Amino acid sequence: MNKNTFVTISSIQTKKLGSLLAKELRGSEIVCLSGDLGAGKTTFTQGLLKGLGVKGPYTSPTFNIIKVYNPKAGSYKLKAIYHIDAYRINSKDILDLGFKDFAGKPTFIVIIEWAERIKKLIPTTALWIKFEWINDKERKITLGKK
Ligand code: ADP
Ligand code: MG
Repeated sequence: MNKNTFVTISSIQTKKLGSLLAKELRGSEIVCLSGDLGAGKTTFTQGLLKGLGVKGPYTSPTFNIIKVYNPKAGSYKLKAIYHIDAYRINSKDILDLGFKDFAGKPTFIVIIEWAERIKKLIPTTALWIKFEWINDKERKITLGKK
């Protein structure tokens, strides 16, 4: 296993990993989460949002496609965090929702579940994180992998 691979043994650990990543984000990042249903993408996102100082509850955007969150007060540069679930949409849908206006822009962070479904729209600078189900409690999470 390489240094970018983590095996978490609980959803709490997966959230913790998300919170840790949050500390590294400054704005303009596109965080692409790939992997099957139940692999932990939303759980990781909850930790990421918490780490970014967003107040909960953070429900899955599955039925909304995009959710927009405000970062904590005092975050001088960051204006919003976009959480997208691309499970039921295609590239055209996401373009119609203004993807180009916020993705990669310095004042925004974009988190995309099922990003592999809109791969052709994702800039090469994006960070990819792959989620794999091992068993009931364990998930393999690999940074930098589609
Ligand atoms: P996805 O968004 O990829 O479909 P979710 O995060 O919504 O996945 O669901 C993951 C489910 O698996 C949750 O019910 C969570 O409690 C459970 N789970 C069990 N172990 C883990 C783990 N190690 N990491 C993340 N989720 C876990
Ligand atoms: Mg999800």
